[in-house]
Amino acid sequence: MSELLDAVRAGADAQTLANLPLPATTRAVFVRREDQGMFEGMASSDKDPRQSLKVGEVPLPELAPDEVAIGVMASSINFNTVWTSIFEPLPTFGFLDRLGKESVWGQRHAQDFHVVGSDASGVIVRAGSAVRNWKIGDTVTVHCNYLDDQDPTSHDDSMLASNQRIWGFETNYGGLADIAIVKANQLMPKPTHLSWEEAAVNALCNSTSYRMLVSRNGAPVTQGQKVLIWGATGGIGSFAVQHVLNSGGIPIGVVSNATRANILRELGCEYVIDRNEKGYRFWKDEHTQDESEWRRLGKDIRALVGDDPDIVFEHPGRSTMGASVFVTKRGGTIVTCAATSGYMIEYDNRHLWMKLKTIKGSHFANYREAWDANQTICVGKVVPPLSATYALEETGQAAYEVHHNRHDGKIGVLCLAPETGLGITDPALRATVGEERLTVFSRHANS
Ligand code: NAP
Repeated sequence: MSELLDAVRAGADAQTLANLPLPATTRAVFVRREDQGMFEGMASSDKDPRQSLKVGEVPLPELAPDEVAIGVMASSINFNTVWTSIFEPLPTFGFLDRLGKESVWGQRHAQDFHVVGSDASGVIVRAGSAVRNWKIGDTVTVHCNYLDDQDPTSHDDSMLASNQRIWGFETNYGGLADIAIVKANQLMPKPTHLSWEEAAVNALCNSTSYRMLVSRNGAPVTQGQKVLIWGATGGIGSFAVQHVLNSGGIPIGVVSNATRANILRELGCEYVIDRNEKGYRFWKDEHTQDESEWRRLGKDIRALVGDDPDIVFEHPGRSTMGASVFVTKRGGTIVTCAATSGYMIEYDNRHLWMKLKTIKGSHFANYREAWDANQTICVGKVVPPLSATYALEETGQAAYEVHHNRHDGKIGVLCLAPETGLGITDPALRATVGEERLTVFSRHANS
């Protein structure tokens, strides 16, 4: 352990941190280029992140002028780390190699290791010469929109930038490490009432759901609108539910077990569908969907809320998209950011055009959206869905849990933080938000 990292852990002041040397290497979670063929021919579900995710020391690159180095106190597991670890749909080394060809600074990313992780909370330990708004010692969270601000296409909505990337997935030196490298325009203030691990699990999923359901770039919910949310206690779903409630909408949460149904009710989501209990079979076989099953879901939604959903929050993809398009209200919107169960989706287009529905694609969030989403956390309007916390060495197991849908909400990962519960600097705000509310997911996961 380096003196600098010991000082971060001890909460040392900015001057002390500035005076200690940045180590040449960092402990990190990574996949290796040489392993990218290791699961060839295997079914997705058999590909095991515990085999491909390594924990060890990797060299740190020189810091670019617009970057900071963060002493990472905690990080989280996102589904993109699962994708990297099973080398699906593509090995991520292709992304790193492409970035490596773009510029001198980009070359640093094209390595034979890929340090993963797209969330972090921590302390700035170094700031490049062009960093203006942040300084050593600041406590931060990080959003994962990584872009080239000298590219003109990044200056309307930066998610439309031609070379927009996701940090820790399409770039190297991600958050599952003791030291992470990020651009200054990824930084956001750490919520003061949260522990390091609570603060680390929000940015990627919360910002994604915010763009999908709050921002005008997505399908913004207005008061009284009904929103069907698949995977409503999963990473993005648990934030989607909270954003719909905050907007005055009515979430209908779909989950697959009773614990998750209870979490939803405690979050304030009154209308819940347990898809396992209902036993929907949207696909008769691998090639054929069953419209009568779409209809059954539609009837169940009407029985609950008296109407069809104005918006469907889509991400399971192939398994649900046909049903999602069918049940959406005339003129309504299916907003999608993923396809976990398969991206070659199929739906009956007659239901889309005859009923004037829209399918809206969405991907992460621009800085403004991520910042606003972070504010919802900072003021306690949205709570972190942290259900469990693992040590950095256990990242493989944590990713395995997410891969197999065995977790609720989000899994946090301790990097430099020696134990859970540290980092809270505004206990009064915490008391106002309420311990009960802040621990909805962890209490149910442990019950
Ligand atoms: P997650 O924590 O695993 O949650 C996904 C939820 O979906 C699960 O809780 C599960 O809920 C439900 N689900 C899984 N398979 C399903 C199926 N076949 N049919 C219906 N429901 C199913 O994952 P996440 O973090 O929410 O991410 C979800 C997807 O979005 C991933 O593919 C991820 O890569 C993607 N994503 C994209 C972006 C972006 O910017 N484009 C950002 C974040 C995430 P139940 O079993 O309880 O129903």
